[in-house]
Amino acid sequence: MLLPAADVKKVETSTSSRGYSMALRTILHYPDKRLRELAQPVNRFDGDLAKLVADMAETMYAAPGVGLAAPQIGVSMRIFLVDVATGEDQPSDLRTFVNPVFLERVGEVRCEEGCLSFPGVHEEITRAERVAVRALDAEGQRFELEAEGLLAIAIQHEHDHLEGKLMVDHLSLLRRRLVHRAMMKRAAG
Ligand SMILES: [Zn+2]
Repeated sequence: MLLPAADVKKVETSTSSRGYSMALRTILHYPDKRLRELAQPVNRFDGDLAKLVADMAETMYAAPGVGLAAPQIGVSMRIFLVDVATGEDQPSDLRTFVNPVFLERVGEVRCEEGCLSFPGVHEEITRAERVAVRALDAEGQRFELEAEGLLAIAIQHEHDHLEGKLMVDHLSLLRRRLVHRAMMKRAAG
């Protein structure tokens, strides 16, 4: 997910604390069909997964975005990252969600959203105001989280990607057509 005023510092290719080098992955753009696939549950928490998560973080910060789901880099796995601490002085608040499920979705809120798979597009979307989620972290440890505000919106946006659902699916037919046309124009260069 992307904020209109996202102010995330760019991160150069670097080495993680575990010693493997990270790499920027290519972010797929709408209407790439891979964005429509239902992502598969993760069942192995090994070095490959750690590397994938590190690459996703690097790619998200470089974009810059406040969230990134594995299907957006062509990996059909139920993983997404969120870091909504966008201020320059704010410490990073990176959270990894593996095999996430919603325990609760309460209320309704409208917020302008962007998406790294829809460059240049910002649309108002209705989401639940508060959510409770159960997921595994990158090491396979289970956690539960209650979220509201931007974090809750980012979690819902990224979870949609695991279902093959995209921000246009939340729009009216008219808005959806306009976004589709803009994206096709962009793809045509
Ligand atoms: Zn997105």
